Amino acid sequence: MESLLFEDLKLSREMKRAIADMGFEEATPIQSLALPHILDGKDVIGQAQTGTGKTAAFGIPVLENLDASVKGVQAVILCPTRELAIQVAEEIKKLSKYKKTTVLPVYGGQPIERQIKALKRGVQIIIGTPGRVMDHIHRRTLRMDHVKMIILDEADEMLDMGFRDDIEFVLEHIPEERQMLLFSATMSPQILGITRKYQNKPEMLKVAHQELTVPEIEQIYFEVREQMKLDVLTRLIDMHNLKLALVFCNTKRRVDRLVGHLQTRGYFADGLHGDMSQNQRDRVMNKFRKGQIEILVATDVAARGIDVDDVEAVFNYDVPNNEEYYVHRIGRTGRAGRKGQAFTFVSGKEIYQLRDIQRYTKVRIEQQKIPSLREVEEVKRDLFLERLRKEIDEGDIDREIHLIERLMEEEYSSLDIAAALLKLYVGGKDDSSSQNDSKYGETGAQPGMVRFFVNVGRKQKVKAKDIVKAIGEVSGLSSTSIGRIDVLDKFSFVELPQQHAREVVGALQRKGIKGLRVNVEPANKKM
Ligand code: ADP
Ligand code: MG
Repeated sequence: MESLLFEDLKLSREMKRAIADMGFEEATPIQSLALPHILDGKDVIGQAQTGTGKTAAFGIPVLENLDASVKGVQAVILCPTRELAIQVAEEIKKLSKYKKTTVLPVYGGQPIERQIKALKRGVQIIIGTPGRVMDHIHRRTLRMDHVKMIILDEADEMLDMGFRDDIEFVLEHIPEERQMLLFSATMSPQILGITRKYQNKPEMLKVAHQELTVPEIEQIYFEVREQMKLDVLTRLIDMHNLKLALVFCNTKRRVDRLVGHLQTRGYFADGLHGDMSQNQRDRVMNKFRKGQIEILVATDVAARGIDVDDVEAVFNYDVPNNEEYYVHRIGRTGRAGRKGQAFTFVSGKEIYQLRDIQRYTKVRIEQQKIPSLREVEEVKRDLFLERLRKEIDEGDIDREIHLIERLMEEEYSSLDIAAALLKLYVGGKDDSSSQNDSKYGETGAQPGMVRFFVNVGRKQKVKAKDIVKAIGEVSGLSSTSIGRIDVLDKFSFVELPQQHAREVVGALQRKGIKGLRVNVEPANKKM
């Protein structure tokens, strides 16, 4: 189906601005289906998989319907778990950026007194687990007379968790004149039972899954935590020596942010998204066609209008919100019988979205281990030697040979010359990272290394081998590439290869050593 543009919906200016700030380009399929009906005041049953944007599908109308002059609760959203309630509250807060509203998540486990205090101050939108909401109704700390919208989010899960009676209790205590929405990934007789009893001529909306022809290219996924995505992306690009990659993000803001990070790391990267003028886009596309961009980062909408069909690899930096996007994205590589690859980064619950994509597209997306820095180094070295061999075998290198002969007349051996050239070349290649590393200054390390101070030592029962192990785990570097390690009473020193230092340090600070949180800083030469 055609996706709706948020601009085409009758939304307040504040809402449109908030949506733009969130970087959404167009409505997802379930949003496109449901928003017009919900904004029309109809009851709706919405069925769509997880990760398809159901929160905004009801969150936008909830906020649009709010009467700012009424301080009491006007909308109640029921969620199965505390985590989901918090997530929904956060998304709604973002959507209400330019509209003053009071939102409160209420869930079991949190002291009820605190919730009661907050409720007394006046709350307009309640997001809660059914049991706790029921509890507040019992205690009369939650008055329902002004409620005009009730939403059951993830209805199937709530029923699976045995919340049916609690849900019905809440529904019984809400004014008859109200709009009721129900969202669920699956449908069941039990859900339909609730629907029949409490909803008023609901629209049944379900995202239809099209038959999709998936291109036959190698599809791989990595489980990557959000903070590691950038590192993994650059590792894969380096490792496969990619000259032309297309990277997809789910929002415009993520495109901008990623482009910035890649440029700082010395990659020729640029972005495309719907907030750019036609002029800006043309400029990017021209650069891309002239080969001045190695990595093009784009949203789905922006990529649709362009003919970049022959990229070496497609990256799904975010798992797309629906399977059609996935198929369109990966179809950008492997054209004209060429070999292409598609890499998808999956973090946290995105794994469920990936499963849905696999189910509907019937493709096999294979999981791979994130390559360690060491593996990246090895592959890069092999690639380099391969290029060197090719150059020797096919290259027109008479002029270069002549230069070398001149040096040899000065009594240098050919081996020395080759080694020096190699060093210059590899050193030069690493310029982008060594520039970044020069900020470490003089740390008293051996050449090519940086010496770091780590705030754990013998007192914490940390031994040199624990540090080696921790570094190995976060980076794949072996003890031979790690320099000198000194473990003292309350702190330690460790030398790391300069070109990996920044990445290793970041990872160590995130993962710790032997279960201890650590702080790692460039050492002072005097120490
Ligand atoms: P669901 O409730 O269907 O599992 P969510 O509402 O949690 O899905 O949305 C999943 C993610 O998609 C969230 O990070 C959300 O901000 C994002 N999202 C929602 N709508 C859009 C959109 N129109 N474009 C891009 N991202 C979106
Ligand atoms: Mg949800």
